[in-house]
Amino acid sequence: MAESAHDLIFPTPVFHGKIWGGRKLADDFGYQIPDGPIGECWAISAHPNGDCVVAEGPWAGQRLSELWDAHRELFGGLEGDRFPLLVKIIDAKDNLSVQVHPDDAYAAEHEDGSLGKRECWYVLAADPDTKIVIGQRAHDRAELASMIEEGRWDDMLNEVPCRAGDFFPIEPGTVHAIQGGTLILETQQSSDVTYRVYDYDRLGDDGQPRPLHIEQSLDVVDYAQQAPASGEVTAPEVDGVTELMACPNFVVDRVRVAGEKTVGEDWPFLCVSVIEGSGTVRAEAAGTEHQVARGTHFLAPSGCGDLRFSGDMTLVTSRVPA
Ligand code: ZN
Repeated sequence: MAESAHDLIFPTPVFHGKIWGGRKLADDFGYQIPDGPIGECWAISAHPNGDCVVAEGPWAGQRLSELWDAHRELFGGLEGDRFPLLVKIIDAKDNLSVQVHPDDAYAAEHEDGSLGKRECWYVLAADPDTKIVIGQRAHDRAELASMIEEGRWDDMLNEVPCRAGDFFPIEPGTVHAIQGGTLILETQQSSDVTYRVYDYDRLGDDGQPRPLHIEQSLDVVDYAQQAPASGEVTAPEVDGVTELMACPNFVVDRVRVAGEKTVGEDWPFLCVSVIEGSGTVRAEAAGTEHQVARGTHFLAPSGCGDLRFSGDMTLVTSRVPA
């Protein structure tokens, strides 16, 4: 069958070793991953620290960043100097550092023109009684500085229960930490700027503690923010679709496919992750039927037409807002 420029784009994931990572990306998802503790699968990314190569089709062998630069028509002619989104799976066997991310303005000024990092988490699986840290209790910079100085982590950090199916938006300026025993699908701005507040006094691969970034953290924390009490999804499901988050950077939906399901093309491009089940998908303008299953990620480009899904599966999709 002739390859169509309108067909779906399947990026090859990039894996990152992390001291807190595990082996679920191989054991649960069947990805071919390097040895050792692997914490992150960058599934759809054009970030320089993990720029996915297209696996098949007319764009095979090209990096996502190259497609963004040379074939902007695939992305509806959107403006911007970089592909804006990053979709990853996080396998936290151990706790991630307590951290916070800057917004676009702070990152542009202090991080060499980087984007800020707004992110959100869809919990794929969590061990019983797992919690997650979202938010902190200091009212101002001085109070937070003394809590950090004195190591008063229990006073400082807001913990929330974490169960499969929960969803957590993480605004820039939110202190947060994914705890061990958690498997998460993260949708975020295409940024890799993290300020570590506390790392449990762990040592990295080189026998040294990983660097902390206390001053930057104190700068960017949003002291007025209200921490959530739960990640339970309360938005209504309409025709199989639940809007999880809509913000200036992205719109994230959960889509249930039970039998046949059409997702209409009303985006410049769509990132799709299959998080449960299996089936097929066909882009109307291309015609090729693709087998997909839990752990498959793809990009639906502009002009691909409606997406025809068949099977029994759950998807998480993301797009830039209209
Ligand atoms: Zn983070």
